[in-house]
Amino acid sequence: MSQELATTVASEQPQKEKINLLGFSASRLAEFFEEIGEKRFRATQVIKWIHQEGECDFDAMTNISKELRAKLHDIAEVKLPEVVNCQDSVDGTRKWLIRVDGGSCIEMVYIPERERGTLCVSSQIGCALDCSFCATGKQGFNRDLTAAEIIGQLWIAADSFGQFMPKGKRRVTNVVMMGMGEPLMNFDNVVAAMGIMLEDNAYGLSKRRVTLSTAGVVPQLDKLGDVSDVSLAISLHAPNDELRNQLVPINRKYPLAQFIESAKNYIEKMPDNRRKVTVEYTLMDQVNDRSVHARELVELLKDLPCKINLIPFNSFPGSGYKTVTNTALDRFRDILVAGGYTVMVRTTRGDDIAAACGQLAGEVNDRTKRQARYKKRLNEIESLNIIE
Ligand code: SF4
Repeated sequence: MSQELATTVASEQPQKEKINLLGFSASRLAEFFEEIGEKRFRATQVIKWIHQEGECDFDAMTNISKELRAKLHDIAEVKLPEVVNCQDSVDGTRKWLIRVDGGSCIEMVYIPERERGTLCVSSQIGCALDCSFCATGKQGFNRDLTAAEIIGQLWIAADSFGQFMPKGKRRVTNVVMMGMGEPLMNFDNVVAAMGIMLEDNAYGLSKRRVTLSTAGVVPQLDKLGDVSDVSLAISLHAPNDELRNQLVPINRKYPLAQFIESAKNYIEKMPDNRRKVTVEYTLMDQVNDRSVHARELVELLKDLPCKINLIPFNSFPGSGYKTVTNTALDRFRDILVAGGYTVMVRTTRGDDIAAACGQLAGEVNDRTKRQARYKKRLNEIESLNIIE
């Protein structure tokens, strides 16, 4: 065969897709090395390089032999999502727009406080749960993020703050799965990514500092306690089913009583019985902010170890809702405090860059057909629940 023909044939060979190691947990990485005929301990070396040193180039992984590095080059890669832009708010909040495979974009927000820095991470491109007050819900749904795309967000934030540099200070001390999407609808990838957040040889975050927030996918929440023990936040936003059915439509499948029971069971599975669920309640003017709602909430939560986060609604174009007045907010909080609850009022951060809670929108491509697929999955989850 002539050299020219050989070159042509070689270039026509389909390129084998490389395996992205970014989203591999320590155990999955150990399996991977075993599968390629290498020792399992290589996983510890590689996971440290990626998530503690911030190194994505196998050539720079100097405690690995040249032969193994060449082998890894052939079959694997460490591929990050692409940062499209990064904006800083006057209050120190930082927001990234991140492009993932397929061209859609997600948003991620970092909120610095005096003693901690919290990264709000997305789990899906868009969201199909369609909560009536949420900018993400209005975008429709495209697809689940992969574990690499989820943990890639933490990698990008850590890198941008110089955390990977020698003597780099840890700026991301807390992660909340509260960005775009419903994390429990992307169960396996979210659990895998949270595992890397907690992994000592990766980010080593404490389970108290990683929080999953759910709008109430009860069957998945029931499963979560078997595989993870991160902190839990539940997005209630209404104290009774009638109102919650309008604001958070998944409530029609899994009403409040079921949701709260499931959250209680989750907490009871934790070895540390002092942990509490965080209840998220977004306050909207004349919608869910009346005294009667606060009193209903006091009653509803009486058997759930919890603290309550009140979030004044952050408006966005076309939302149709207004934020709570200060008078109504104070009255609501006082009733909860008198009911014996610890209550925090979340101050609005990053409003000037549309990074406040509920404002994340990103850019979702091709949402229509996938919406139907997503609804089908929701039904599958429900039928699973019935069978179980
Ligand atoms: S509030 Fe959360 S669950 Fe509801 S639509 Fe928005 S992202 Fe989805």
